[in-house]
Amino acid sequence: VAARQALLAACPAAEDALVVNNGAAALVLATTALASGREVVVSRGELIEIGAGFRLPDLIASTGARLREVGTTNRTHLTDYADALGPDTGCVLKVHPSNFRVTGFTSGVSLPELRQMLSDNGIPLVVDLGSGLLEPDPLLPDEPDAATALSQGADVITGSGDKLLGGPQAGIVLGRAEIVARLARHPLARAVRADKLTLAALEATVCGGPAPVVQALHADPGMLRARAERIAGAVGAAVVPHDGRVGGGGAPGVPLPGWAVRLPEAVAARLRAGDPAVLPRVHDGACLLDLRCIPEADDERLLAAVRTALDG
Ligand SMILES: *Cc1c(COP(=O)(O)O)cnc(C)c1O
Repeated sequence: VAARQALLAACPAAEDALVVNNGAAALVLATTALASGREVVVSRGELIEIGAGFRLPDLIASTGARLREVGTTNRTHLTDYADALGPDTGCVLKVHPSNFRVTGFTSGVSLPELRQMLSDNGIPLVVDLGSGLLEPDPLLPDEPDAATALSQGADVITGSGDKLLGGPQAGIVLGRAEIVARLARHPLARAVRADKLTLAALEATVCGGPAPVVQALHADPGMLRARAERIAGAVGAAVVPHDGRVGGGGAPGVPLPGWAVRLPEAVAARLRAGDPAVLPRVHDGACLLDLRCIPEADDERLLAAVRTALDG
């Protein structure tokens, strides 16, 4: 109950919320409850593999829903969706291709266009955001968020608790009360429900100020530079510009400007084998230490580890 309230307070565009095991479970529950034995209409450009060999089309097919693929890998038009709708349509699904980018001769259909096409014909519009970002983040302009998707007409969104939200592994469902209720009362909901430690951690993530992943994302480049210069100065190394990246298959290709301490490549192996172990980036014949994901309070320990590795 507390996690649900926390999510609703953080995303007022949603009428109701449901938390399950993970993002995959949220998607499976949505397609099962809304389209089992019927069709899920989805663009061919959005049939993605998410990691460890798991593929969304296989997940959806495992629910007893039939995939109705529309469009092509690079281009899908509104008419493709419109032509596929019929008495057998269980839902229309839009999936954020969260871990890759297709560029060139591409086109897709926006949520407002899909909403307008579906008008009030009763076919639910489901959006799998992937990341579980609750509101827009100016640093990640191409990353969709729950508030925007719902205000643009999604009936329900699904997402992960442990990607950009930075919380525990969890699946988040937000959206119209009537649709969330259909999911919540489906028998499968019981099999994928989240346990109370997850719910407590999710509540703390949503209510407890910026999570570590959010802090790392928004780390001030000037501060990163000052910290890198202090460590570099203490060991006679250089500081070089260094772009960070979002991990976990999110926000592909988006550079996060920052800085790194540049050390000889051979230091990397000694840093990794040290205690505490430090995992630097090895790139271009150098060992690069980007402090973005290291809490400032650990800078002294890091400096000690660097000194030991340099002496070795
Ligand atoms: C990551 C992801 C999922 C699966 O979420 P998990 O919480 O890892 O199960 C589903 N859909 C999309 C688009 C994703 O990016």
